[in-house]
Amino acid sequence: MDQIYNFSAGPAVLPKEVLQQAREEMLDWHGSGMSVMEMSHRGKEFMSIAAKTESDFRELIGIPENYKVLFLQGGASSQFSMVPMNLLRGKIKADYINTGQWSTKAIEEADRYCTINVAASSADTNFTYVPAQDKWQLDPEAAYIHYTSNETIGGVEFHWVPEIDSHNGIPLVVDMSSDILSRPLDITRFGLIYAGAQKNLGPAGLTLVVVREDLLGKPLPGTPTLYNYQIHAQNDSMYNTPPTYAMYITGLVFTWLKNKGGLVAMENTNITKANLLYDLLDDNDFYHCPVAKADRSLMNVPFTLKNSALDEKFLRQTSNNGLIQLKGHRSVGGMRASIYNAMPVEGVAKLVAFMKEFANQHA
Ligand SMILES: *Cc1c(COP(=O)(O)O)cnc(C)c1O
Repeated sequence: MDQIYNFSAGPAVLPKEVLQQAREEMLDWHGSGMSVMEMSHRGKEFMSIAAKTESDFRELIGIPENYKVLFLQGGASSQFSMVPMNLLRGKIKADYINTGQWSTKAIEEADRYCTINVAASSADTNFTYVPAQDKWQLDPEAAYIHYTSNETIGGVEFHWVPEIDSHNGIPLVVDMSSDILSRPLDITRFGLIYAGAQKNLGPAGLTLVVVREDLLGKPLPGTPTLYNYQIHAQNDSMYNTPPTYAMYITGLVFTWLKNKGGLVAMENTNITKANLLYDLLDDNDFYHCPVAKADRSLMNVPFTLKNSALDEKFLRQTSNNGLIQLKGHRSVGGMRASIYNAMPVEGVAKLVAFMKEFANQHA
């Protein structure tokens, strides 16, 4: 099989080494005679996998003791309701920053449980930038402040963490589904972070939540058991069956990240890859990237061809060259190259070389 580079936004590319190891261990994990898929989640084999997955994750980020790590299901979308259900804690308002389609979805869902103050929005340009913090109109009575660190569809990413120390101790909550573990992270700046695994961590089916302990224990009346963070925290994410195989693969990805040098090394590689693409987009007026330079995502690079009549040809030819899943999100059209941790530099270099050639041929 020829080398394929998969630019899908999610479920997305996984490290080859991880898939190879999973293949080797598929029928018999470490002499247990079982596939990980066949193990009881309460058996000693899987308990050891779960413990290592959590400790590697804690080590990669540097998560202090007073934060719980939860391994949940339901996708990041279920967090859109789980966050207000658990973090309102008797308050009735929440601040949201709207930088695109995922923020908008989070707002729509939370609106069922509380009064939303959209403290800042970039809807005025159809979401091509991150509003500067000095323009935010935060509500002093908000229960929490929510933002989306990387808009997977629009390609808009925060390259800074909001400064809210002076803000009455109101916790910062972030949807990091598509950029978690792409760079170092100071978890103490946040009350809660969440991420679906299928973008930058592992397979679909696992949702990671990291939450500061003191925020737990005051869910809205009527909160379903499985939507209560505290229940999961008290039961080490084993109140019911966790997504065992997805946790195992994600654990292998954590080991892979550690072997690669951790999050600092990852960030450097991610910057190298993104620069290759953005430099081409800026140097060549055959292509266009709509996102403000300072807020361009290192993970998802949306772009259009000046002549959209060539879109189909571009997609056909990239695909024939082993560069797949480049079609933009159905809502925005054009192209999108997702270049998560597991995308090697060579994949981006090959795409850039193809794009130069394609532009020359059609200029
Ligand atoms: C993909 C994505 C989601 C939704 O994730 P699901 O797992 O499909 O629920 C939410 N937020 C962001 C930023 C995403 O990229």
